[in-house]
Parts: sequence; structure tokens; C-alpha cells
Amino acid sequence: MNILLTGGTGYIASHTAVVLSSLGYKVFLYDNLSNSKRQVVTQIKKITGSAVTFIKGDIRDSDRIVRLLKRKKIEAVIHFAGLKAVGHSVDRPIDYFDNNVAGTVSLVRAMNLANVKTMVFSSSATVYGNPTYLPLDEIHPKLAVNPYGRTKLHIEELLQDVSDADAEWNISCLRYFNPIGAHESGFIGEEPSDRPNNLMPYLVQVALGDLPYLRVFGGDYPTPDGTGIRDYVHVMDIADGHVAALDFLSKNGGWHALNLGTGSGCSVFELVRIFEETNQCQISAKVVERRPGDVAESYACVEKAYTKLGWRAKRTIPDMCYSAWHFRKNRVV
Ligand code: NAD
Ligand code: UDP
Repeated sequence: MNILLTGGTGYIASHTAVVLSSLGYKVFLYDNLSNSKRQVVTQIKKITGSAVTFIKGDIRDSDRIVRLLKRKKIEAVIHFAGLKAVGHSVDRPIDYFDNNVAGTVSLVRAMNLANVKTMVFSSSATVYGNPTYLPLDEIHPKLAVNPYGRTKLHIEELLQDVSDADAEWNISCLRYFNPIGAHESGFIGEEPSDRPNNLMPYLVQVALGDLPYLRVFGGDYPTPDGTGIRDYVHVMDIADGHVAALDFLSKNGGWHALNLGTGSGCSVFELVRIFEETNQCQISAKVVERRPGDVAESYACVEKAYTKLGWRAKRTIPDMCYSAWHFRKNRVV
């Protein structure tokens, strides 16, 4: 089966490409390289031993995508491409709506024209906003509190309307919780080009000595140790979730939204402690002010993903900490 991965050289797509390629899918990576590097393609090949095709391009170039879908006989699209920094989205909402929402409109228009009507979309737990109850299940109110989250919500709604209007469409929106970690080979992983915003890449840079200490955003949350709790999930489990979603869509039509998480929460202090124990290192950390917009606690109800896809996260927090560190220590990209 021929699959197009938009945002294909990015963090989550590259891990998904490895899994798909190993299973015999023919993988095409489409990316404008705004937040990733072309060398990722070589790294994927080193892991899988088989070539994946890279095409540099933007999802807003609808004509180009129509030609690509037809020429490469693509049967399904996994749509990872998007801007994802919450803070930037607050400062640059127009860029975020243009890239994420208008970009998806262009892509879906192209898919319609090329008669490719199967899509897995990278959504996010940010669509829920502040939890009114936990664990967050898929019917929890969608109260996204920042422009990034609202772009994800608008895209989900667009895709639902597309599916309602044309029964030939099969769409899965996967709401990722907190993907971290890397492929066990150490050849691919998460490597932000700027100073990291997210906890794990920041932690790794502190461990490397590139940053002096971890700023723990808030030590007075109503949680057992006062720090924020999140549902960290291994990026390779997330990758497996996409294969399960493709399989599901080959047998079921319509629009579905599913959480991908472990179902368990882990605090900032717990993650730091497990990282230190697993990787035998010391992390300096200082509690600072809460980060605006952060919630105290967020973790997923994962029953729907299990019932529909037969998918559950298998890897542990030590697996996530070990692989993230292994990737950065052995970085070759
Ligand atoms: P990433 O930045 O590593 O990957 C996204 C890729 O999309 C990048 O390679 C970038 O160059 C490309 N891209 C962006 N705009 C594009 C455009 N207009 N045309 C073509 N390519 C474009 O991010 P990631 O962490 O791999 O995230 C992948 C998807 O998952 C994103 O949509 C993100 O919003 C979503 N998501 C990520 C997380 C997370 O914590 N990493 C959590 C929830 C959802
Ligand atoms: N966090 C932190 N220091 C950092 C980055 C994040 O203390 O440098 C905390 C943040 O407040 C939250 C958790 O780590 O409680 C996960 O944050 P991240 O940005 O990784 O993911 P989010 O859930 O916000 O998307």
C-alpha cells in the first residue's frame, strides 16, 4: 500500500515511517522542511534498510499534491504537517491558522480531486483545554485555550463535515497526549531547532550540559508533589497507533476521534527522577513560576483506542527516558 506522510521528516512522522516501511508499506514523505531536516530520510533508511521517497513541498500547494497523489498511486494520507508551538501560536495566530487550517483545506481538496479519501490526522489532547474531569475521554468538552489547540479543533470539525458530506471518506483523528522518546537505534528522535519548549527535550539538553538547569514550571499545583502531571507516551507506541488506525480505516468508514496515551499520569519531578535513575545522571532543577496556560493534570482515557483499534501503549517511562537520551548522545543528524 502506498502512503503519503505530510510533515514526513518531522519527529512523529519519521518514527511512523520506520514502522510502516518495516511492515512493507511504500512510504512517501512530503515536507517543506520548516521544522525538520532532509537527513532524516537517510537515517530512516539506515534503520529499515529500505528506501523511502522524500518530496520537498508545502501542503498549501494543492495542485502539486494532486499530481503527487495520482502519480504515486497513493491510497491513504497520514497528515502530520503542522506548526505546533503553543507560545508561537499566541504571538502568530494568522501563521498558525494559515499553515494548519488553510493547509489542511488545500490538502483535503487535493485528496478529493485525486479520489484519495482515507486520512489519519495528527490531533492533540490540547483540543480538550482545561479538564473538567479526568481521565479525559473523547466526549469531554472541547475547550481549547490557545490558537494552536483551536487550529486542531477546527481541522477536526472540517474533517467531520467532509466525512458527513461524502460517505466515501474514512478519517481517524488521533489525539496524542505527550509523545516523548525515540527509536531504539538512536538514529532518529526529537531535535528541536530552537530552545526547547517541551519538557523532555529540555531535560535532555540539561543532561548534556547545553542548558544550566531545568525550570520546573510551578511547584504548587494541587498534585501529590506540586508539579504538573501529564500522560507521557512513547513515540514508537504512537507510531504503532497509526498502523492500527490505517488498518481500522481499511475496514470501517466515517470519522472517528481517538485518544493516544498510556492512561497514566506522571509529574515533572517523577519524570526527572526516572530520567536520572535510568540514565545515571544528575539534573539540576529549579521551581519557577507556573507557565501561563498550563493545566495541573492531564491524562487520557484510552479505552476507545483499545476497543476500536486494539491498540494500547506498551512502553514504559524508563524506555522513554532511555531512548530520548540515547538518541541525543549518539546524534548523527
Ligand atoms: P514536527 O515539527 O517535528 O513535525 C511536523 C513537520 O511538518 C515538520 O517536519 C515541518 O517541517 C512540517 N511542516 C509544517 N508545516 C508544513 C507545511 N505547510 N507543508 C509541509 N510540511 C510542513 O512535529 P511533531 O512533533 O512530529 O508533530 C507532528 C504532528 O503531531 C503535528 O501536527 C503536531 O501538531 C501534532 N502533535 C504533536 C505533539 C507533540 O507533542 N509532538 C502532540 C500532539 C499533536
Ligand atoms: N515543563 C516544565 N519545564 C519545562 C517544560 C515543561 O516544568 O521546561 C512542565 C509543564 O509545565 C508541564 C509538563 O512539563 O507540566 C509538560 O510540558 P510540555 O511542554 O512538555 O507539554 P504540554 O503538556 O504542555 O503540551
